[in-house]
Amino acid sequence: MIACLGRIVHDNDAESKLDDDVSSISKSLDLQGSIESGCVTGLASKDFGGLYSVKPLALIKPSGAEDIARVVKAASRTSHLTVAARGNGHSINGQAMAGGGLVIDMRSTEENHFKFFKINGSPYIDVSGGALWEDVLTRCVSLFGLAPRSWTDYLSLTVGGTLSNAGVSGQTFRHGPQTSNVTELDVVTGKGEITVCSESQNSELFFGVLGGLGQFGIITRARIKLQPAPDMVRWIRVVYSEFEEFTRDAEFLVTQKESESFDYVEGFVFSNSDDPINGWPSVPLDPDHEFNPAHIPQTAGSVLYCLELAFHYRNSDYPSTVDTTVSRLLRRLAFVGRVKFQADVSYVEFLLRVKRAEEQAKANCIWDSPHPWLNLFVSKSDIVDFDRTVFKRMVKNGVGGPMLIYPLLRSKWDNRTSVALPEGEIFYIVALLRFVPKGPSVEKLVAQNHEIVNWCIKEGLDFKLYLPHYQSKEDWKRHFGNQWTRFVERKACFDPMAILAPGQKIFKRTH
Ligand code: FAD
Repeated sequence: MIACLGRIVHDNDAESKLDDDVSSISKSLDLQGSIESGCVTGLASKDFGGLYSVKPLALIKPSGAEDIARVVKAASRTSHLTVAARGNGHSINGQAMAGGGLVIDMRSTEENHFKFFKINGSPYIDVSGGALWEDVLTRCVSLFGLAPRSWTDYLSLTVGGTLSNAGVSGQTFRHGPQTSNVTELDVVTGKGEITVCSESQNSELFFGVLGGLGQFGIITRARIKLQPAPDMVRWIRVVYSEFEEFTRDAEFLVTQKESESFDYVEGFVFSNSDDPINGWPSVPLDPDHEFNPAHIPQTAGSVLYCLELAFHYRNSDYPSTVDTTVSRLLRRLAFVGRVKFQADVSYVEFLLRVKRAEEQAKANCIWDSPHPWLNLFVSKSDIVDFDRTVFKRMVKNGVGGPMLIYPLLRSKWDNRTSVALPEGEIFYIVALLRFVPKGPSVEKLVAQNHEIVNWCIKEGLDFKLYLPHYQSKEDWKRHFGNQWTRFVERKACFDPMAILAPGQKIFKRTH
């Protein structure tokens, strides 16, 4: 009892000391925005992964880049404070957290930029680093009939958050990741300097922050390429029992010229069973459609594969033209005949499809459960091995959520950015998007993720983690490989005291 009381007194002392720290920082900062400490910082110690929680000293809601620069400069005058930009907190492993540091809520700046213009006849939009992609989409489509070209599957993510990683989805094979679709950024560096950068101006910073895991600067504005938005999308799912046929068709589609392919190509693995989440019922696009397993060949194994495709069209296109073109494209594919699902939805509805899934998951109370997700880029040369060991054996019964797999092309990525990729031209994104109830199983699933990564290392696979997270510098060095020196040099140049994004656990704060 006495020990317990002692701790409370001690904690109260510590709390009031922290409050003093916060109020002195707050006074010296003279922010236009606000600063919050104590229990109101709860948001900053949580993320979508639900695996980590560390408390910051304070949560700052800046009004713009000047406030952010002041915060970073104030941190640099201390011996220990770090600063983490928090986009929408959809990281898995605490990447947007700062234990005992300052977390900047980028959402408070989401309205700061929204300017449309043309350069040499091509349309662009300037948006805030803290803007959500779903808002960029709906505003661009409704105001201008235009939209960004490259997306993520889920759009309640911030522009700065995805650009700090890459931003990939079914359009990446054609347009490259989101990092290939921005031409200019405003960045607050780790020295607290507000810098405009692009391919031709401060290019080292520009390419550094793209895929830079928040290590070199905080993106406060991004200039994004736009294209005319189609009105409608024909959304199709076809099924394969053989991995080799699935990959042959997926690779065929992503290497055709634009008029000879779909506008979106993704795929997923599902278990050959009636499991409502991991099996056949996860494939139809409409609850009224039914998956008939009688059509699946007897020779099929424990898992099946689904190719997900989308074809853009306009309301003014003749329905028969759309039908003819889609049939012509499908005719060249070797999916299991008669197992095909399709729906016609508006372009915005298609891009917001995961929001519908989020609403359902929230209603079923599984959206807020822990998510020990694993995302990898695996080279085409190793994907058959990966399928044999991981999909057909280790996770053959599913992961309680989607298991995505689809090909991307290295030539659509700019190797001056900080993203680490496998060597081969064709590589697959593999995403094990686990939804698990709280409890001991979480640790087991984290352990299974480690087992998969360790197997990839041991077998010498040409692979990289996407949305990487490692604990030791050695692991980070291996991750970046021959790009490590460049990454370290960029850090020394733009954030020499290692103030930014401490939750990535790459560098330690220095004095
Ligand atoms: P946060 O989690 O808040 O931050 C991520 C990192 O970026 C942190 O280190 C943070 O400090 C830093 N950061 C945040 N904002 C800035 C900024 N303005 N400037 C500099 N650094 C910043 N990814 C894909 O590529 N494709 C997908 O289809 C996809 N789907 C997803 C679906 C769901 C449901 C979820 C939860 C995630 C998905 N992701 C996907 C992953 C997602 O892109 C990353 O987790 C991304 O970091 C989340 O963005 P956020 O705004 O929540 O960033």
